Amino acid sequence: MSKIGIIGSGIAGMTAAIDLASKGHEVCIFEKNDRFGGRGRTFQAQGFTFDMGPSWYWMPEIFQGFFKKHNKSLSDYFELKRLSPSYKMIFKEGILDAPVEMDKVSQIFEEREPGSSLFLKKFLQEAKYKYEVGMKEYVTKPSLSIFEFFDWKIFRSFFKLQMTKSIESVIHKGIKNKHLRAWLNFPVLFLGAKPSETPAMYSLMNYADLELGTWYPMGGMTRLFEAFYQLSLEKGVKYYFNDPVHQISVVNQKAQSLECQSGTHSFDYVISAADYHHADTKLLSIENRQYSDKYWESRKMAPGALIYYLGVKKKIPGMIHHNLFFDADFQKHAEEIYDQKVWPQDPLFYACMNSYTDHTVAPKDHENLFLLMPIAAGLKDEESTRKSYLDLMIHRMEKHCGESIKEDIVFEKSYCTSDFVNDYNSFKGNAYGLANTLTQTAILKPRVRHRQIKNLFFAGQITHPGPGLPPSMISGEIVSNLIDKSSKTNRNE
Ligand SMILES: Cc1cc2nc3c(=O)[nH]c(=O)nc-3n(C[C@H](O)[C@H](O)[C@H](O)COP(=O)(O)OP(=O)(O)OC[C@H]3O[C@@H](n4cnc5c(N)ncnc54)[C@H](O)[C@@H]3O)c2cc1C
Repeated sequence: MSKIGIIGSGIAGMTAAIDLASKGHEVCIFEKNDRFGGRGRTFQAQGFTFDMGPSWYWMPEIFQGFFKKHNKSLSDYFELKRLSPSYKMIFKEGILDAPVEMDKVSQIFEEREPGSSLFLKKFLQEAKYKYEVGMKEYVTKPSLSIFEFFDWKIFRSFFKLQMTKSIESVIHKGIKNKHLRAWLNFPVLFLGAKPSETPAMYSLMNYADLELGTWYPMGGMTRLFEAFYQLSLEKGVKYYFNDPVHQISVVNQKAQSLECQSGTHSFDYVISAADYHHADTKLLSIENRQYSDKYWESRKMAPGALIYYLGVKKKIPGMIHHNLFFDADFQKHAEEIYDQKVWPQDPLFYACMNSYTDHTVAPKDHENLFLLMPIAAGLKDEESTRKSYLDLMIHRMEKHCGESIKEDIVFEKSYCTSDFVNDYNSFKGNAYGLANTLTQTAILKPRVRHRQIKNLFFAGQITHPGPGLPPSMISGEIVSNLIDKSSKTNRNE
């Protein structure tokens, strides 16, 4: 049995903790905030319960599989509901609801562009293959060396995975209709890069969207994080909240202890599940850093976000649980985020109204709204700037719903770049970590294991496999497996 110290209680930290504690190790988590969940925290105000970050529950079998591995079922913790329709897309020229039934999806494609349902069928067959192979053979590898991928099965699949083509080029070759293009391009936006720079392998996200579905844990996304927390307590994980780690002390190339607010704690292994850049540049001394400032500056960041949590004292017609306001120029907003890195002129945005599905998250006859506008990471955000975009988003929602909303707002809280930095030590105030471009995939991501300090590991959205709840979880499992193996080897030596 080894003693393991984990920095950060986000989904990656909690996953690693559960896995390691199950294997008999003694695990402590140090968290700077007063609550677990990291970017997936929650808060309550005036009778509303707001999920602060993730709102899309995709790839349910990844979460269920993890709980099953630990002899649990997520249904012991919450009721999971499939949303139908999955989401609403609001275009300038009209709306499009995403049905859960594939024959209805095909029908919409056919109506908008005759012949396109055939393309969709082939596209989704390939996406299914990519999902199955990608999730099994690529994503779960530690990606510490190219040799991990020297395997006949992987070699055979490489071309079918379309790693070197962009997803946009594949979609645009098969589909001309701009709404259908936006529909198929939308899921990869979760990966933090423009579709033109995202490998076509990630059409596996389309499979997750259209075939596996969009789900919601009744009570809010916080239920998922509570389940992880509960399970970790059952396994004996010990938490230190309001206890930021100030330093990883290294002696003779070994991470020896964590210098925390509560004092010095010694460990056999350390996992940083906090933002990688923070651990590399602030928690390690300069001679132990793995990456230079130049390296970090040259990383392509996934977008940041301007978020508004709103409580509204009336029911809002015309909106469902997930609403994508695509009534602006997709390409222009993408350029403002990734190329020009400026505040957008006419942004796309997303409105989650979970009170549509769940009456526990808002008082009776009220709505719980979460508005998210993607922005370039690192933008300076001032109160007046935030406010002007709130007005813009409300105006667009009012126009769509044909209903006034502004004067019925009874609770309002914004969240942006500086909050991500203050709350999570986030590099450039990023929301989703690094973009999943080809040059930032697998072995080209910041490493899960320190090159020289062999008992120091990194988990979370900035390392392999990337941003999002399922990938961040998987990084926790990868690190847990590496540590358990190393611990056994050391014991046998
Ligand atoms: C607004 C938003 C919406 C999102 N929507 C979705 C979605 O719908 N679906 C989806 O799958 N994903 C979504 N994501 C992405 C997903 O939330 C993240 O990829 C995932 O939660 C990252 O988990 P993590 O454990 O790597 O990091 P985090 O959740 O950030 O956890 C890191 C933890 O480390 C702590 N920490 C930092 N520094 C220290 C220190 N020095 N000492 C102690 N503790 C420290 C932080 O406080 C934090 O609790 C969203 C993210 C955001 C921000």
